[in-house]
This record gives sequence, C-alpha cells and structure tokens, in this order.
Amino acid sequence: MPELPEVEVVRRGLERHIVGASIDSVDILHPRAIRRHLPGAADLAGQLTGERIAGADRRGKYLWLVLEPSTVALVVHLGMSGQMLVQPPELPTEKHLRIRARLDSGLDLRFVDQRTFGGWALAPLVEVDGSLVPDSVAHIARDPLDPRFDLAATVKVVRGKHTEIKRVLLDQTVVSGIGNIYADEALWRAQIHGNRLTDRLTGPRIRAVLTAAQQVMREALTQGGTSFDALYVNVNGESGYFDRSLSAYGQEDRPCPRCGTAIRREKFMNRSSFSCPKCQPAPRRSPAR
Ligand SMILES: [Zn+2]
Repeated sequence: MPELPEVEVVRRGLERHIVGASIDSVDILHPRAIRRHLPGAADLAGQLTGERIAGADRRGKYLWLVLEPSTVALVVHLGMSGQMLVQPPELPTEKHLRIRARLDSGLDLRFVDQRTFGGWALAPLVEVDGSLVPDSVAHIARDPLDPRFDLAATVKVVRGKHTEIKRVLLDQTVVSGIGNIYADEALWRAQIHGNRLTDRLTGPRIRAVLTAAQQVMREALTQGGTSFDALYVNVNGESGYFDRSLSAYGQEDRPCPRCGTAIRREKFMNRSSFSCPKCQPAPRRSPAR
C-alpha cells in the first residue's frame, strides 16, 4: 500500500505532466478498475471526455484530479499496486493496463494495476473547512503535510481520546496519511510505545509524535517516497528508496540506531509494530482494548 509520501510523489508528477491538458478519449480495459464508479464504464468515459485537468490534489493517501468545466473530481485509488503513468501513445501497452486516457497534449495517461484493487471513480467536490475535496474524502482529516494542518487542535483531539496512541495515529478522521510505517517511525523518534494511552500522555509528548510524523514524511518526500513493493513506482516509473533510512519499521532484531538494543516486533491491530524496548518501554498496564 503506498503511503502519503509516495502518493504525493505521484501527485507532483501528475501536476507537472498532465495539469492543463484535456482528455480526448478514454478506454476502459478492465471493468474491475472502475467498479467504484457505480454508473459504469460508458458513463465514466463519457463524463471524462472533453474535460480539462485543472489540478492534481491530495489529502492523506487520497489522490484526485480536478476537472473543468464539470468541477467534479476524478478520484484515483492506487490500491496495492496501482500506477499512474504518463506515456507517449506509441509506447506498447503495459500487460496490466486497465484504463487509458488520450490527452490533447499528445500523451497518454495510463492506469496500470496488476492486482486491480485500485481504480478510478468520479465524485462531486464539496467544501469542507475551507477546502474543496471529493465527497468521498469529506470525512478524512487534514494530513500533517497539509499547509493548513492545525497541530495544536490535533493534539487536543488526540488527548481527548481514551485509546492507544498508535491507534489514533492510524485513525484517518483524526489525522490522515499516517500508515503503519510512518506511525512506527514517528513513535520511535518521539520515544513512545504505541500502546500508551493518549489521555495519559502530556500535550508536549503528543505534539512530539505528531511533529515526528511530519518530519519523517517530509524526509521521505525529499527522497522520492518509500517503496516496499517493486510494483509501486511513481509517475515517471522510478522507484522510491526511503526504505534504507527506516529506524524501526521492518527492523526486527536489528540494533536501534539510538541505543543499540534489538528492535522488537509485536502484534498490533492484525499487523506488526516495530519499536525499541529500551527507548520505547511498553506501558505496565494492559491496553484499554
Ligand atoms: Zn533504542
């Protein structure tokens, strides 16, 4: 699953290469890739044809193109293996090409997805808290890289919850875009165990973990995004390489870069959590849930 920095890399690529272009025609080559668009393939292709791509936007891991004149959003679900490729039309079609849009700029916008968990769907844009977002994204909170992310207000919301800090970091309605990898990295940096209860943490400690999430995602972004899946590449077909810089996530039994203690792996919400037993001592009492 791509995390926020990877999605932002894709967004930037789309902004650079296709914003301003108009869609001449759309071929939907696999019905699964448009299953979220309930009116079906002909409707999607018909609505997209003739539209101008006015912007490429993102909130958390949600990515969309703003279309004109209709002012609807083309929401792009990358799923596990989805790629948005901008290609010259004469380039042979990819084996897992699912949707191809021909642009008036002379390029193709291609959606390639081996497992086809992702896809395209149209959604009306609605105004939430001063920003236009697709209605399917209206319940998603701002992410830590959003220029209008309110750190102080988010600290307050987090402290108001009686649950484990990692659970709140993954709650997209509180703060979006933090997945398992960046949650573990942020908790490691702030030296907090993910099972600590939010209402037992001080405001400054919660602020520290949110700030750490911001920092680790910014660093990932400057390096082109993390990539754990060879299938996941950005809009230009280049893989990210931030995975070399991870301190905790996926580092089981390797030394903690801060103190040298072996990183431990624990189960959390049907997934794994990675942390340093010395820098991030587990809470003594068992978690609330
Ligand atoms: Zn340590």
